[in-house]
Amino acid sequence: MVKKILIIFIVSFYSIFCQPKESLNSSEIKLALKKLNTLGTVLYIAAHPDDENTAFLTYFNYGKNMRTGYLSLTRGDGGQNLIGDEQGDLLGVLRTQELLQARNIDGAEQFFSRAVDFGYSKTPEETLKKWGKEKILSDVVWVIRKFRPDVIVTRFPPNRITTHGHHTASAILAIEAFNLSGDSTAFPDQLNYVKTWQAKRIFWNAWTPALASMGINSDTLIKINFGEYNQLLGRSYTEISAESRTMHKSQGFGDSGRRENYYNYFLQLAGTPAKNDLFQDIDISWNRVKGSEKVSALLSQAEKDFDFENPDKILPTIIKAYQELQKLNDKYWVDIKSAELLNVIKSCAGIWSEAVTDENLLSPGSETIVKTGFVNRSDFPLILKSIHIDYQENDSTLNSHLINGEEVSAERKIFIPQDAEYSQPYWLKDQNHTDTYIVTDQNLIGQPKTDYPIYAIFNVDYKGTELNFRTPVFYRETDPVKGEVYKRVEIVPEAVINFDKDLYLIKNGEIKELTVIVKSIKGKLNGKVRLKSVEGWDISPEFYGVDLVTKGEEKEFKFYIKANGNSPSSMVKAQVEIGDKILSRGLVTLDYPHIQPQTILPVAQTKILRIDLQKKTVKKIAYIMGSGDKIPDLLKDLGFSVDVFSNESLTTALLQNYDVVITGIRAYNTNERLSTDQPNILKYVEGGGTLVVQYNTLGDMFAEPSPYKLKISRDRVTEEDSPVKILNENNPLLNYPYKINQNDFSGWIQERGLYFPNEWDEKFLPLLEMNDTGENPLDGSLLVTKYGKGTFIYTGLSFFRQLPAGVEGAYKLFINLISAGINE
Ligand SMILES: [Zn+2]
Repeated sequence: MVKKILIIFIVSFYSIFCQPKESLNSSEIKLALKKLNTLGTVLYIAAHPDDENTAFLTYFNYGKNMRTGYLSLTRGDGGQNLIGDEQGDLLGVLRTQELLQARNIDGAEQFFSRAVDFGYSKTPEETLKKWGKEKILSDVVWVIRKFRPDVIVTRFPPNRITTHGHHTASAILAIEAFNLSGDSTAFPDQLNYVKTWQAKRIFWNAWTPALASMGINSDTLIKINFGEYNQLLGRSYTEISAESRTMHKSQGFGDSGRRENYYNYFLQLAGTPAKNDLFQDIDISWNRVKGSEKVSALLSQAEKDFDFENPDKILPTIIKAYQELQKLNDKYWVDIKSAELLNVIKSCAGIWSEAVTDENLLSPGSETIVKTGFVNRSDFPLILKSIHIDYQENDSTLNSHLINGEEVSAERKIFIPQDAEYSQPYWLKDQNHTDTYIVTDQNLIGQPKTDYPIYAIFNVDYKGTELNFRTPVFYRETDPVKGEVYKRVEIVPEAVINFDKDLYLIKNGEIKELTVIVKSIKGKLNGKVRLKSVEGWDISPEFYGVDLVTKGEEKEFKFYIKANGNSPSSMVKAQVEIGDKILSRGLVTLDYPHIQPQTILPVAQTKILRIDLQKKTVKKIAYIMGSGDKIPDLLKDLGFSVDVFSNESLTTALLQNYDVVITGIRAYNTNERLSTDQPNILKYVEGGGTLVVQYNTLGDMFAEPSPYKLKISRDRVTEEDSPVKILNENNPLLNYPYKINQNDFSGWIQERGLYFPNEWDEKFLPLLEMNDTGENPLDGSLLVTKYGKGTFIYTGLSFFRQLPAGVEGAYKLFINLISAGINE
């Protein structure tokens, strides 16, 4: 009797898909065979997307054939975005994808904790307090127990030689987790899903200047040459790693490959001492799996017999190895090696399989056609027995003998159940997070992304051994420029509703128009759209009827809102009612050429902020753009006339048409025009104009912003709620049109400001004083001086964050600054 083996290959913790993988070529198969015979695991730990040493990951994956992972504690939500305007949660989604694309290149796996990148942090203490140390420590322990690394490597040392609190915290947590993951009394709830795991040792991937500053001779440490060349790949690990690093496009981290030897040094932090090899005395062979002799012998044989021109020759051996592997008890290695083996089997037979739909957004209760195709591109005798697609009523039984090059295809209708879960990024399902994401399902923690919602399984038989090839169902289109494009299929609500803005600024007494757009995903729908009532505001009309006919059709609805009380700001929510169903999610798509497009379903809401603008203020504003911010649009929204200048010549005569000139963030670092036009701008000030300069960094500047001595420093205040002392309360900038007081510094986000000057001419008057906990007071955040008949203001306060977030006090202060030249 032929024993049947049925294993559904679960693509879960350790698999990253971009789109249906092409078959491996012969060199890649050779590497995959080496990996099948290697049972070593290494985990790299740091804080952010971009912290990881991609050369390390490439070397251990392709050079040492190890299972290699990177745990980034955060998704990089708090950083800058050089390619678009996503900030916060959306930036985190973008950077997550950039990391996954980087891993597609270096071949490592990706993990995250629940920690949110809340922006720059000076100390690990602040970082761990905000995150909740136990929570993130438990996540690191969880990833170690699940991934089971023999060796752990940190990017940063646990002492404070780096400047970012997140970095130091990542090393502190890595060492503590190294010590705790093997202890069954630590986070015992996790043991319902995983076993304890003790890694052998932990290192710091040190850099030489840091070692020198610590008085450590790098020659005494373990060193590895990441510049080695790999014949099978035709490239060095550092060349591949540069390509991987270049995926961090939102941070502008494009990189060129190195072709020379490139040594890295490893300082041991804990564990059994090692002299010259990170994996010293660690058995990374099949010996570590009990009863694996047959599997091991077959896989060694396959590696030895592999014929680059006829890879299908080893199929009987590796299918036998697969069959033997299923008999072993070590679930961890059986799962990992089964997945690797299926991929090698598929590649040796040149198997192509896909399952596609012609729509990428599906909603609960809808149906769609999935087209499947399967081609065996070898003479190896395989039978395609059946195809199973999630949500298909019955499996398709085919029993087709696969003939070299002949496609077996099938089309099946699937029904998405009414209670199907939406498939957005799992960590954003509950958006009410602060400094850690709200994820309650233990099995989701650590995962880089939400799994695909629909899979197809191709059940193939070879002489009684069943092989299940599982692939996500994709949307596919042929783009005239890009060619074949695959996108994730997502399950989203049958109708989505979006406001046209995240923030509406409403002047006193103004009736503001709010626009919402309702889009049908499912097709025909009939219902109502309404804004939920908010105390202190009149909203009209109460609702509109919505009548949409086709899939993807959208309609705009305008509501009117007016304050009837004193509340300065509120959140307004929108919903669509269809029968007794209430739908209240928007739809945001992130689409860049270097990532897989992402669908996010934020709560349909917008912020409204009332600004009392009754007193006389400026009318015409010139805004000189720097690296990009949203302030000009927000000022326009308040009724100011704003002209934005990027490359145009700025003559004094031109500027005299404006009541105030504002420079955007980092304008003096990024806008070349300032090298020629700065004298004209100062002449404009001298003649009575107002110039407000926002923060610039220590990098090269095209001109000196200030007419008097002003030295920019790294001083910053990162605690958004740090106390603020008003130094000069009678100064007009703190009194007109608004009297600024303590309340105006509440509700700020992420930070107070950055790159404050720390030395200035005595003509400057500092207006505010602030500092982070335990540090000396800084008074460079807001400086003002008269220059000729005009006013020059320099401010490192982060208005570029506060204004888009609708922080009332920041608006008042900003309007005061730009109104410096207005007489009451
Ligand atoms: Zn970092």
